[in-house]
Amino acid sequence: MTAVADRAAEAAARVSATVGTAADDWDRAGRIPDDVVRPLAEAGLLCPDVPAGFGGPGLTMAELGEFTAHVGALCSSLRSLMTSQGMVAWAVRKLGDQAQQEQYLRRLATGATAAVAFSEAGAGSDLSAMGTTITADGDRVEVTGTKVWVTGSAYADLVLVFGRYGAGGAAVLVPTDAPGVTVTRVADPLGCRAAGHSEVRLDGVVLPAGHLLGGAGMPLEWLVTSVLTYGRLSVAWGCVGMLRACASAAARHAATREQFGKPLAEHQLVGRHLAELHVAEQAATRLCEHAARLWDGGSPDHVVAAVSAKHFAATQAVAGASSAVQVLASAGAVDGHVVARAYRDAKLMEIIEGSSEISQLLLARHSVARWT
Ligand SMILES: Cc1cc2nc3c(=O)[nH]c(=O)nc-3n(C[C@H](O)[C@H](O)[C@H](O)COP(=O)(O)OP(=O)(O)OC[C@H]3O[C@@H](n4cnc5c(N)ncnc54)[C@H](O)[C@@H]3O)c2cc1C
Repeated sequence: MTAVADRAAEAAARVSATVGTAADDWDRAGRIPDDVVRPLAEAGLLCPDVPAGFGGPGLTMAELGEFTAHVGALCSSLRSLMTSQGMVAWAVRKLGDQAQQEQYLRRLATGATAAVAFSEAGAGSDLSAMGTTITADGDRVEVTGTKVWVTGSAYADLVLVFGRYGAGGAAVLVPTDAPGVTVTRVADPLGCRAAGHSEVRLDGVVLPAGHLLGGAGMPLEWLVTSVLTYGRLSVAWGCVGMLRACASAAARHAATREQFGKPLAEHQLVGRHLAELHVAEQAATRLCEHAARLWDGGSPDHVVAAVSAKHFAATQAVAGASSAVQVLASAGAVDGHVVARAYRDAKLMEIIEGSSEISQLLLARHSVARWT
């Protein structure tokens, strides 16, 4: 193993030890304790691809992917915090100038927590309908608007807010303790219940101009897509993790529980669920690996590969979690069981970072461009 791969394995072991069997308790409580989140942030494990030069673990996208799947298998809420923080760190790497990278990447890799805010009540799938405004005046920048369903914002020190900036768009790093910021938890989400989804209201929030990331005035769609691509790949790996957790729980149960005088796994209709889970996990993993390789190699094709991976992995996670609940039946039909949690969490993966329908529209557009 390389030194970096060693660090990825070390990170996975550390998260396993931290989560233990607590994910279901966190899910029911709707919160991951601060004394879990903060040390992981301090160790750089919420965005472990931040380069070593900025104090991060410096994982490649391929290594980050396997680590993300590992966390996704343990706790989708924690994986959601990683996805959000990783998107913010990636945005700083892609859009920030040198001073911003030095300041914010270092903070994000050594203890600060962050979330990313695109969506609004009137702008979900159609982010071009965004109404949040960002204006710059000399050495100040002002942000006004209301963002919804901002994953991780209940834990966040910083929220990366996207908005309109003249005829284009911009992204601003907003401290959650700045005057004019109000964070209000989403009550009782269907899944990923401990991921801290919240509404973030910004009432004329005034900040020093250094909070405005580079790229201000670029087309909003370009800004959003560059950050969403990271999120899509991260969510796809998280779904691989869920598929692994479901395949493992279903196989272990089917191998030991007997009905009609033999293990469930030997009843062919039950075995079919296990076979389908196996193929789903393998195929989703290969699509994620492919996208990560393209990302690490700097190929522009990583954008479409990330959409394909996310769409496939999310739909398979929904089907796979449903199969796993079916195999466990009453044993898995209780809050607090890993397959029951996956069943609720997986559905949300078909909504976020571009819903299944939006992913299909993007892939259809790509297909026409490719084949005609
Ligand atoms: C768990 C969770 C976490 C989230 N985290 C974040 C976050 O961290 N940051 C953030 O900014 N946002 C976040 N969101 C918001 C998320 O990005 C939006 O919910 C998503 O973009 C869909 O928007 P919407 O819910 O308004 O649905 P709508 O846009 O109203 O869509 C409703 C349905 O119509 C379909 N639809 C819409 N337009 C089309 C079309 N043209 N063709 C076909 N079908 C279409 C959609 O696919 C969907 O099935 C989160 C949401 C959830 C549920």
